[in-house]
Amino acid sequence: TGPDEADEAVRGTCEDASVCKRFAVSVGYWKDPYIQHFVRQAKERKAPEINRGYYARVHGVSYLIKAFLQKTQCNSQIVNLGAGMDTLFWRLKDENLLPRKYFEVDFPMIVARKIHNIKSKPPLSKPIMESHSGDSLLIDSHSLDSSRYSIVGADLRSSSDLEEKLRKHSLDTHLPTLLVAECVLVYMTPQQSASLLKWAASTFPVAMVINYEQVNMRDRFGQIMIENLQRRHCNLAGVELCSSLDSQRERLLGSGWDNAHAVDMMKVYSFLPQADVRRIEALEFLDEKELFEQLMQHYCICWASKDSSNLGLANIDF
Ligand code: SAM
Repeated sequence: TGPDEADEAVRGTCEDASVCKRFAVSVGYWKDPYIQHFVRQAKERKAPEINRGYYARVHGVSYLIKAFLQKTQCNSQIVNLGAGMDTLFWRLKDENLLPRKYFEVDFPMIVARKIHNIKSKPPLSKPIMESHSGDSLLIDSHSLDSSRYSIVGADLRSSSDLEEKLRKHSLDTHLPTLLVAECVLVYMTPQQSASLLKWAASTFPVAMVINYEQVNMRDRFGQIMIENLQRRHCNLAGVELCSSLDSQRERLLGSGWDNAHAVDMMKVYSFLPQADVRRIEALEFLDEKELFEQLMQHYCICWASKDSSNLGLANIDF
């Protein structure tokens, strides 16, 4: 596969993630009234362990995001890197938890598709209009900029281009900033993701980063997962280096971040509110508990912060 084809396969993963999320939502794992406007319903059922995995991913990431918003009292920014068809902006608005500004970045082609959906579906465009003030709402096929929501098409492998585009949309590097990379860094080489992490650490004096991705891929089970993904022609460039939770933490510390944490998804699952976990466990029968646990041990959430203003970002934990 050439470079363009490889990027095309990476873009395809955006569709995968949101189709799986929509399916889990349709079974009742969590509520998301917006995802249906971004992707079609899955043609086939997804396995229960996949749905539970997405449940833990979505709840684990959003737990940390909400902790950040609480510490900063929403007087902050979120930059969702490789956001795909993520619906967090709309869900936070419904919960009255919008930061000062919420940015999304993805390949221009994905951004164009997202903007097309936003433009053509009032349930998506209305919340953006409602949270907008002033008259300068900018919208074209590859970018949208309103007072609270902004989306830009950029390649995350070029930090200078990324920063320039975000600044054009009024990014304020002096506001506490949360960068979210949910299943994104793994598609870059270790050098490329390190340079993105370094850029973020050196650009924002007060910041936090959340990264969800594969981990512990050295055993046989991990190997099978990589092979499956590679069969779908995805360039999983980052898998090799970040093979353990320790190396995930070291990678963050080595890129200029402080207070780095990394926990596997089985741990995250056990930290989630157990009443809701019991509710979702009753939704579908899961035969192979052990398989589920192994699967969950091959994904992790890592986060780190830099907190010169002592907002308490270092204390954020499950
Ligand atoms: N974060 C979303 C979620 O969890 O639902 C989407 C995850 S999807 C697996 C990976 C996303 O990262 C895709 O939308 C892809 O286009 C984007 N992505 C990967 N590499 C990128 C790059 N170099 N520049 C911009 N976007 C990229």
